[in-house]
Amino acid sequence: MADPHAHPSGGPTTPGPDALPLGHSYAHLPESFHARVAPTPVAAPRLIRLNRELSHELGLHPEVLESPEGIQVLAGNRVPAHADPVAMAYGGHQFGTWVPQLGDGRAILLGEVVDRSGVRRDLQLKGAGPTPFSRRGDGRSSIGPVVREYLASEAMAALGIRTTRALAALSTGEEVARQRREPGGILVRVATSHVRVGTFEYFAGRRDVASVRRLADYVLDRHYPHLVEAEEPYRKLLEEVAVRTAELVASWLLVGFIHGVMNTDNTSVVGETLDYGPFGFLDPYRPGEVYSSIDRHGRYAYEQQPRIAQWNLARLAEALLPLIHEEEEEAVEGARQALGLFEERLEEVYRRGLLRKVGLLEVRDDHMNLAQDLLARMAEGGADMTRTFRELSHLSATDSREDGPVRRLFHDPEAFDGWAVLWRERLAAEGREEGERKAAMRSVNPAYVLRNHLAQWAVDAAVERLDFGPMEELLEVLSRPFEEQPGREPYARPPRQEERVTRTFCGT
Ligand code: AMP
Ligand code: MG
Repeated sequence: MADPHAHPSGGPTTPGPDALPLGHSYAHLPESFHARVAPTPVAAPRLIRLNRELSHELGLHPEVLESPEGIQVLAGNRVPAHADPVAMAYGGHQFGTWVPQLGDGRAILLGEVVDRSGVRRDLQLKGAGPTPFSRRGDGRSSIGPVVREYLASEAMAALGIRTTRALAALSTGEEVARQRREPGGILVRVATSHVRVGTFEYFAGRRDVASVRRLADYVLDRHYPHLVEAEEPYRKLLEEVAVRTAELVASWLLVGFIHGVMNTDNTSVVGETLDYGPFGFLDPYRPGEVYSSIDRHGRYAYEQQPRIAQWNLARLAEALLPLIHEEEEEAVEGARQALGLFEERLEEVYRRGLLRKVGLLEVRDDHMNLAQDLLARMAEGGADMTRTFRELSHLSATDSREDGPVRRLFHDPEAFDGWAVLWRERLAAEGREEGERKAAMRSVNPAYVLRNHLAQWAVDAAVERLDFGPMEELLEVLSRPFEEQPGREPYARPPRQEERVTRTFCGT
């Protein structure tokens, strides 16, 4: 295999795209796990953006990916020699309803690359044309969702939240028919895993326990190798997925992220944020917030996410039951214990995280009550979530004269004043050095998140004018979300009334 690091400066000896070091561990699984399918070529692919940093992380040459042949590969127009692309099979519960077969209908797994830290990661072309799982759809994507997912995954990564990544965005030179005709696009997505809870359900739904076991062994071997030799590896697998999912959902809650369509087929078994559709970030802190246009009953509202994640994990548990123990009663008891770790871990991470947001170190119930009281006042007072915590990070522990920027975020500023008195008592009791506390607060309270109106601005420019300037600008801002960026204040402020985006769409 060609050494991808051999010629870091490019040049005539740089390996071409046929030498892309692709692995195919998933394609080597039995036939029932996937459908072999090549991407369908597009008319006139153009590289909108390559994530050079990520390509380095993956041990891939940006120069190769940006070359005319490289772009052909990213667009699906040219399949590298020896590549074995597949569409993955999965099922899932969509809004609580069982769908026995979904599968990659507009995405094709090109292969896997082993990154610089030795982790095997999937390269997937999203929008690469029809597959046997497409059913009604065209297997394509509009440029809008490509821009949305690129922005979201990179913004989340910069916030330190586990997520799939975006390696490249391309326009196809073709149009797709949506509500209107829109330019087509392809997202090159990188994931630690594309195995979903729905992948397990797919086989369990067919009573195909041998394949459930095969899939579980694959996931253990690839993603949880430390469990392979464990006693009860399948129960341990469920435990780890529960813990990672808990950590993920807690990290969402702490930055005001709403996934929007947390169906089991969009729930990763490695605890990564997966499938950015009608997601959104809270502007005013409203626990019941729902932005997604398709979520009519608020199933996936902000505050419902822990409960829904737990529900999804219960579906994974059901699929794994026959592996956990041959006696059903014991299997159920083992699964129940494993799932119990979800709530424990979620509480732990959320509590510690929320207290860090208000600058308190010691995890205690009275501190928690204080923090929850702030959230309640924010909800009551229409306070912007991101702004409130960021401005709070600048406040003195002893002097309330500079409180203006925070208190003005509340309909009734006195609601904040009342809270701030209690807060300063707690800060005084902890007695941390002021500069250190503020810096610590700023390191967990971002100044910049991908607010809905900002994402919409970048999407509109892309869809209407193939203008990717706003996307570039946002990527720059959002790559350093915890740093003050002078001159970029407009990206930190809440939307004005007329800018508010209260409905988000997956658009596909
Ligand atoms: P998602 O909205 O990504 O959770 O997708 C749900 C299911 O619909 C998956 O099986 C997708 O592959 C499929 N799907 C979504 N959009 C399309 C499309 N444009 N063409 C074909 N299948 C699609
Ligand atoms: Mg999906």
